[in-house]
Amino acid sequence: MTTLKEVIAMSMPTEAHMVQGYLASEGIESVLKDENITQIQPFYSNAVGGVKLLVREEDVEVALQVLEKGGYLHPEKVEKVEVVYRTKETDEKHCPFCQSENVGKKKVPDVLMLLVSVVFGAIFPVFRRVNKCFDCGKEWVYRKKPNKR
Ligand SMILES: [Zn+2]
Repeated sequence: MTTLKEVIAMSMPTEAHMVQGYLASEGIESVLKDENITQIQPFYSNAVGGVKLLVREEDVEVALQVLEKGGYLHPEKVEKVEVVYRTKETDEKHCPFCQSENVGKKKVPDVLMLLVSVVFGAIFPVFRRVNKCFDCGKEWVYRKKPNKR
């Protein structure tokens, strides 16, 4: 089963279609959620949190990059979290950027999920685990190196 993740929400369906087309031009498939309710009753758009655009979990990283490149995300709202690909040699006790041992894990609120949770009053995984270096201030997540298909 493929897990779909929301990457962006828009108040207008037309806007959502534009973004969807833009992602498609970059080779990323997406689906829109709550499109119909916003079309039938635009006043509800904000109530349901707008039209949500969802992509496959494995496409999230790329989709966000593409959206940022296209100016759909406001960079100041995007946390600067680096993605570090984990290899056999990866030593998680050291900062991958400055090799400091002064690193820790922290849970940061996932802004999008937080919004969704507030809007729906539902329990979503609002926090994600991020590694932080207290010396150079970098934050990163470990990922498995994607297999080239
Ligand atoms: Zn560091």
